[in-house]
Amino acid sequence: MNTQRSAELFQRAQKSIPGGVNSPVRAFKSVGGNPLFIERGKGAWLYDADGNAYVDYVGSWGPLILGHADERILAAVREALERGTSFGAPTQLETTLAEMVKEIVPGLDLVRFVSSGSEAAMAALRVARGFTGREKIIKFAGCYHGAVDALLVKAGSGATTLGVPDSAGVTAGVAADTLLADFNNLAQVEALAAQNPGRIAAVILEAIPGNMGMIWPDESFLKGLRALCDREGIVLICDEVMTGFRVGLTGAQGLLGLKPDLSIFGKVIGGGMPVGAYGGRRDIMEKVAPLGPVYQAGTLSGNPVAMAAGMATLRVIREPGFFQRLEAKSKRLMDGFAQAAKEQNLPLQTLYAGGMMGFFFAQQPVKDYTQALASHSKRYVAFFQAMLAEGVYLAPSAFEALFVSEAHGEDDIAKTLAAARKAMAQAAQVPA
Ligand SMILES: *Cc1c(COP(=O)(O)O)cnc(C)c1O
Repeated sequence: MNTQRSAELFQRAQKSIPGGVNSPVRAFKSVGGNPLFIERGKGAWLYDADGNAYVDYVGSWGPLILGHADERILAAVREALERGTSFGAPTQLETTLAEMVKEIVPGLDLVRFVSSGSEAAMAALRVARGFTGREKIIKFAGCYHGAVDALLVKAGSGATTLGVPDSAGVTAGVAADTLLADFNNLAQVEALAAQNPGRIAAVILEAIPGNMGMIWPDESFLKGLRALCDREGIVLICDEVMTGFRVGLTGAQGLLGLKPDLSIFGKVIGGGMPVGAYGGRRDIMEKVAPLGPVYQAGTLSGNPVAMAAGMATLRVIREPGFFQRLEAKSKRLMDGFAQAAKEQNLPLQTLYAGGMMGFFFAQQPVKDYTQALASHSKRYVAFFQAMLAEGVYLAPSAFEALFVSEAHGEDDIAKTLAAARKAMAQAAQVPA
């Protein structure tokens, strides 16, 4: 496969953009080689600058649940565009999308739109702090909530007390207000709460994590978190940026019966345009300006073109049967990968829900970040490279989820599974 043109474009990009990319994972650092420069997408397919075609399971990292350049989205965007790209004044589109989101996800009394998932996470934390008058938050190692200072903290070697910044430029002061626990470990959260009585504003989690690979939560863990937050007056924030409108119509919270106080959204809610949202309990959301004292604002928030793309997406996915059809594809893919691994005697753990999938080269189901890091990521790299050579585009990292769209057809899946057979043979070459 010739990727000369992509290599040239990457060289050129690096002269003007840090690392040649506008979001780090795009640089292919953890899988080696040059990133592919994409020229266009259609349906389940991506086309790179050298004219190579790939079945795409990244889907712009989640938003493209209808596939690339879906005609229904394009029509809605064109119509909105013709009326103007931005007004900095309210439009009916924002209210309509807010009403749709509220209809779909129970428990959202008020919703505020922003332009990214990171922005939604940052705002939700501020609101939780403003509402409770407390400073500290608890997050889970391996859960990602965007490039937000206070959230760029994870556990080093199982440390679960004070946060250590994960990024240069995050001050120790900010990190010190972020407490860490391991995912699926309620006892650690209980201990943190006991050590910091009346000082914890929020617990934030991905109820089904997808940023350390895909991980399933224990039912008792989620129940325990809800009870703890109720008892201690802590705001429970469910980050549905990845899972919302993706693992099922009502997101991870609907699937798992979790009732958060606040939820944050992104990705699918914008149908491929920059949209994030946060919302939840009325008494908490009433703290947001101009109703209340917590300031949060955005010049392009609720952008009409982006709202139109989100509405067009939600209209399709709320039709009966949409998620059953999507999940049947995820099941076929993950069952096929598992079978291909078995043929090579490779231990593989697979998971899926709705249109989200994940797998680890590991002996046992992966329950937290430490276990995720202990999985055989070198095998993933070999598998990834072999799949790419066969024309299948997976996430360029062992610790990301995969996404299937409405546009993925029988032929695309059959092609993917044939490629997976060959790629597992390559992965099997990597020593244990
Ligand atoms: C992608 C993601 C974010 C950040 O969203 P951006 O739109 O990239 O800022 C936050 N939380 C989760 C769970 C995500 O997957």
